[in-house]
Amino acid sequence: MHHSEKTPMLLDRYGRRIDYLRISITDLCNLDCIYCWKGRRTKKRARSNILTYEEILRIVTISSRFGINRIRITGGEPLVRKGFIDFIERLSMIEGIEILMTTNGTFLKGHAKRLYETGVSQLNVSLDSLRENRYRYITKGGGLEDVLCGIDEALNTGIRMKINMVPLRGINEDEADEFIRFGIRYGLDIRFIELMPIAPEWKERFVPNHKIMGRLNGRYTLREVNESIGGGPARYFRIDGEKILIGFISAMSDGFCEGCNRIRLTPDGKIRPCLWDGLEFDLIKRMRAGATDDELALAIQEAIRSKPLRHNMYKINYEGRGMRTLGG
Ligand code: SAM
Repeated sequence: MHHSEKTPMLLDRYGRRIDYLRISITDLCNLDCIYCWKGRRTKKRARSNILTYEEILRIVTISSRFGINRIRITGGEPLVRKGFIDFIERLSMIEGIEILMTTNGTFLKGHAKRLYETGVSQLNVSLDSLRENRYRYITKGGGLEDVLCGIDEALNTGIRMKINMVPLRGINEDEADEFIRFGIRYGLDIRFIELMPIAPEWKERFVPNHKIMGRLNGRYTLREVNESIGGGPARYFRIDGEKILIGFISAMSDGFCEGCNRIRLTPDGKIRPCLWDGLEFDLIKRMRAGATDDELALAIQEAIRSKPLRHNMYKINYEGRGMRTLGG
């Protein structure tokens, strides 16, 4: 979907164009991936502290007026929040936005078709292993078969889909090639995402993306695709003779922030200009105190202008929010 010529675009202080809003609609998840959280399971927040769907729709409507034209629904696991299909349906009525979703895929089966019909144009499925026992270990109990069935169903709808894989040393890093073959077989783009330091054993598990790239280069000829795809920080490559894209998101080892085009909305209603910076702008408080649309727009624009130049990931004193409330 194209935004109209008249839509103003918003640049941050460093000239980065911000047109992408990632919304974590719940901090709850059916899985408990070993690297996503510091070890405790999310305490169920009081429902009243979580944005209602109404409130999210209002924020998206306001944001779409100043150039936010892509919305990603994430979590937690977005498909565990009740009423998400109706929500997506209403979201899709907002003019000028494209709707994307990130999911662990467990509940795609039975929902993929509806998601596509209601207006989700692209799915990113997080899948860290193609081996059942490893998958169960990484996710603390998840069933690989459910995800594969879900992917299969989604493939039949024609929805665009990518697989996101986080290589972990000593666990799944040897599967890069298997993932590429899986991607080629089903026509799925594969993206390798560097592990970010949340869980204490981060250092032992971290695999730099150049290592994965080196390994794949031994088997395939990877050619970098120069046009920017999705405008984000991933670097994309193609294998000669194949259609799929292979992406590398190297938050830790690469110049990552220059291409940043996004802000985030947490389930408890805070705009977060940078994933790895504690700065937040409280929209829920403003909204519930009766702020007007213009006042909310100003707060979001202020958040965009306050976007730091770079993330703070090396200062490994993470301020307590696991990836679940930030949406990855
Ligand atoms: N539940 C959905 C899913 O699994 O895709 C959406 C939320 S999940 C937090 C979004 C993404 O964040 C997943 O691809 C996950 O692998 C990634 N993620 C979580 N913790 C991470 C970490 N420490 N480093 C890198 N990626 C991480």
